[in-house]
Amino acid sequence: MLYKELVDTYEKIENTSKRLEITDYLSDLFKKTPPDVIDKVVYLTKGRLHPDFWGIELGIAEKLTIKSISAVTSVQEDDVLKKWHEVGDLGTVTEILMRDKIDKTSIQVINQKRIDDTIDAEKGEDNSRSIKKPLTVKTVYAVLDDIARLSGTGSQKAKIQMLVSLLQHAEPREAKYIIKTVTERLRLGIGDMSIIDALSIAFANKTDKIVIERAYNLYPDLGMIAKVLANEGLDGVASIRITPGIPVRPMLAERLYTIEDILEKISSAAVENKYDGIRMQCHICNDGNVKLFSRRLEDITGQFPEIIIDLKKSFTGSNGIFEGECVAFNQNTGEILPFQEVSHRRGRKQGIIQAIEDYPVCLFLFDCLYKDGEDLTVKSYLERRKILESAIKPSGKIDISNYEMIDNAKDFEKFFDRSLEIGCEGIVAKSPDSAYMAGARGWNWIKYKREYKSEMVDTVDLVVVGAFSGRGRRAGTYGALLMATYNPDRDVFETVCKLGTGFDDATLTSLPAKFEQYKLNKKDKSVESRIESDYWFVPSVVMEVLGAEITLSPIHTCGLGSIKEDFGLAIRFPRFTGRWREDKDPFNATTTSEIIEMYRLQLKRFK
Ligand code: ATP
Repeated sequence: MLYKELVDTYEKIENTSKRLEITDYLSDLFKKTPPDVIDKVVYLTKGRLHPDFWGIELGIAEKLTIKSISAVTSVQEDDVLKKWHEVGDLGTVTEILMRDKIDKTSIQVINQKRIDDTIDAEKGEDNSRSIKKPLTVKTVYAVLDDIARLSGTGSQKAKIQMLVSLLQHAEPREAKYIIKTVTERLRLGIGDMSIIDALSIAFANKTDKIVIERAYNLYPDLGMIAKVLANEGLDGVASIRITPGIPVRPMLAERLYTIEDILEKISSAAVENKYDGIRMQCHICNDGNVKLFSRRLEDITGQFPEIIIDLKKSFTGSNGIFEGECVAFNQNTGEILPFQEVSHRRGRKQGIIQAIEDYPVCLFLFDCLYKDGEDLTVKSYLERRKILESAIKPSGKIDISNYEMIDNAKDFEKFFDRSLEIGCEGIVAKSPDSAYMAGARGWNWIKYKREYKSEMVDTVDLVVVGAFSGRGRRAGTYGALLMATYNPDRDVFETVCKLGTGFDDATLTSLPAKFEQYKLNKKDKSVESRIESDYWFVPSVVMEVLGAEITLSPIHTCGLGSIKEDFGLAIRFPRFTGRWREDKDPFNATTTSEIIEMYRLQLKRFK
């Protein structure tokens, strides 16, 4: 197949904005594409060479591209650049400059050819072999793929040489699209759904689209699907299976704003914590290799080596696909940290070992899509959960999200409050009978988030009443301190948070010595706590703390029962500002009633 045929279609597509016409042009293209190159045609049309999850980037730096264009058109790099700023698209610039060159040289060429022909005729030679051969899809694809795979020293030079040679064989119109492709600017406005539509028109009935979509959701490689469709028909596509190593398009949640509305949709729901982190799809392949994919199906395996090690330890089976949320985690307090912390781990290519230390994570698995050769997406949520729990032994950085079957608003609210308290951003209610609907957003999963997101603008001064032993990097010192407010009405100290962030290394090391003089064998009777800490102190030291917000808490005693029966208040994501309030004694610390007032204000402000 000639590359020119793709270019013809691309031009037609660029000249229309009508979706139906675009689909028709595409399906016409697919119909006339030989089955052995249809995968390449699909990838090229998406402006790629492989499925996205392969992670092979074609992008050639613009500087290199300009060098190549300059070499082919004999126009100075500066002038190419100028033209680019004028026209706005390097592909179009290439087409223009190549045409200019042809126009300028055509007279010379014609004259030269006349001379050459005369000489050839005199010599009795046929020189028609030197006429340039039209580019095929296979050639363009192969050269671009070679360019994409080149790396290391000297690769830039080699990339330019290969691109120049490809352009020298191209017509100006073809060169335009080659340049658009190598600079990853082939923006035809064709989404995967348009390709699926066009494939179903070309090779099946429009009503059979559902089969192609299902295959795509389980195995999102449209090039491969097109090839199977063209070679084996719809039956072939229907037999495409979920496969460890190939990401599955994730199931997504709808949202609702009241618990009552959720219970109306799912009368008896499996309610889970909604962790605020990075969605992770974990594939354990037959050969023991583990691959991790992001929500966008990018291969993020290299970014989380510690998860891979622990996942291998936790998994019992030969292969599997699991889904979960990876959150930043304070190993010392057991607290889940805000998303900003885990975001430091995202997209990182360097300094990964240091990042593992600085931003420890924990993966909470919430679904199992495949195990030991069996596609579990068709099974119910409860069946999948059972398999998940038997396949994964929580250990190290791997845990399983908890869930509770809930059919009433009171329990729902309790679960929700507890979720916020442990650092989650809300809950996800799931229909217990539902299958895993890959790639679909539906009412079988409903998310319900904290509505009154806020920032605590004021700092508070809290009293240190206890401490927890440090682990990992904090071994030998405290991992976190137990902090309390003062309640003057009852003359007690009521716990309000664990404080584990905001300390520099020197402060951390000095903590045990600093608190040695306040150590007690058991909890001071002025301290009210539902938490058992490793060390107890005489309430003495006051520290300035800034938190994200105040939430209801089933474990802290600050203002217990004042807002809600059996619930206290907690400061979420507390951070030491670095200021020791030596000017305050514990009775001058922030009072419980101040915290209650702050909570009420917060509610009002964000209602
Ligand atoms: P969406 O994923 O719905 O498009 P989004 O990317 O903004 O929206 P959220 O609004 O945060 O994400 O809600 C859905 C996400 O919640 C899921 O994609 C998943 O990453 C995350 N999540 C956290 N905990 C769970 C859980 N227990 N079950 C399912 N998803 C969870």
